[in-house]
Amino acid sequence: MSQVRVRFAPSPTGFFHIGSARTALFNWLYARHTGGVFVLRIEDTDQARNSEAFLDVIYNSLSWLGLNWDEGPRVGGAHGPYRQSERGDIYRAYLEKLMASGRAYEKEGAVFFRISGEPQVIEDGIRGRVERTEEKDFVIVRSGGSPVFHFVNVVDDIAMGITHVIRGEDHLSNTSKHTELFKAFGAPLPVYAHIPLILKQNGPGKMSKRDQGALIEEYQRRGILPEALVNFLCLLGWNPGDNREKMPLAEIVRLFDLPGVNQSNARFDEKKLAHMNWTYLVELPPDAYVEQARAYFARLAAGPAAEGAARIDPLAADPAYFREIMLLGQPKVKAIEELPAYTAYFFTEDFGIDPKVREKVMAKGDPVARLRELIATLATADFSSDATLEAAVQALAARQGLGLGDYVHVGRLAVSGTNVGPSFFSLLRVLGPDRVRPRLDRFLATAAGGSI
Ligand code: GLU
Repeated sequence: MSQVRVRFAPSPTGFFHIGSARTALFNWLYARHTGGVFVLRIEDTDQARNSEAFLDVIYNSLSWLGLNWDEGPRVGGAHGPYRQSERGDIYRAYLEKLMASGRAYEKEGAVFFRISGEPQVIEDGIRGRVERTEEKDFVIVRSGGSPVFHFVNVVDDIAMGITHVIRGEDHLSNTSKHTELFKAFGAPLPVYAHIPLILKQNGPGKMSKRDQGALIEEYQRRGILPEALVNFLCLLGWNPGDNREKMPLAEIVRLFDLPGVNQSNARFDEKKLAHMNWTYLVELPPDAYVEQARAYFARLAAGPAAEGAARIDPLAADPAYFREIMLLGQPKVKAIEELPAYTAYFFTEDFGIDPKVREKVMAKGDPVARLRELIATLATADFSSDATLEAAVQALAARQGLGLGDYVHVGRLAVSGTNVGPSFFSLLRVLGPDRVRPRLDRFLATAAGGSI
């Protein structure tokens, strides 16, 4: 069998949508699975709706997802150019053929394709047998001279030797026009595979560009890991035949095939993506995790400041300090975008005390007395490890006949203003005595009504 050649053929008319990403991914997977060629072709004949900026979004999004193309813009190839706006001569030559064979004719300035009217039957790789009959001749070149999507799409698939057309189900109804054209050119039909739609998370209907979670750039901005998003997208309409979800990409490449793609629509599930992302995040090597965090804070710093919020700049802190804090967050936070809130008090003395937590902590036992004892103990404690700090507080609690919690809750509130965070002893160690001691004193001053 000849080598598989698939293509992803986006029109740069909008931002890069999650549905487009999945179509690109399924083509890429099929090419990699079969040892075939993945072509990127830009369908930019609709001059009015295209923009160069959207082209960059396509290239950047594909690259970010790791979907490298073997032929196409920026990498070249034997079947170029790969932008339809640069292929005018090719379309004219193909149009000549249809004119010469009588399958195209001019009417009122436009060029029409003369249909055969025969039933068009395809054996779709996903949907199975699909039949549809075209009933009217259709325009292939508009009166202004610009060629129509159906025409250029088929010409390019022929000229680029495309063997498999894997695309969204929204194009299924176009396929009879396309097969009419293939036959009129005497070209063999490609194998078609129409991927079911992605339904929006809630309610009926297809996910649109306006739905939350629709844009790939958005995920990039939020610090979602591309590996996690790719794994998630694979499962949006395909499964390995068992219940596995988190899978190495190489394994997906090995197993991916068109018959494994579901016929029913896939529903987008933000929670599932968040969970998938988290499973990848916790496994990242420390350097990679810290780099993700750094890049996220850098994007935040470049963006507009949150309304009313004092700007905290963790990137201005000592890099070793930053690193330790982010690594404390790694097993705890579900997403990179939770890091700013989770770590804020490490980077500012101006952190608030959560009033609800305060009320709860201060209502139990004698927290002011505990705080005084804790201050005395930490004044001489060894901050070099979690274990030495824990031993010191443990000894204090034992002396007083109290539990560790009697010191941990009020201590945590005093140094961080909250009751969530890393282990108390890690918190103390990383903050260090020079931050911990003044924070405890300050809190005691307010808690004890100014008397120490
Ligand atoms: N340019 C078309 C689109 O963006 C591609 C159609 C196809 O893959 O054949 O939907």
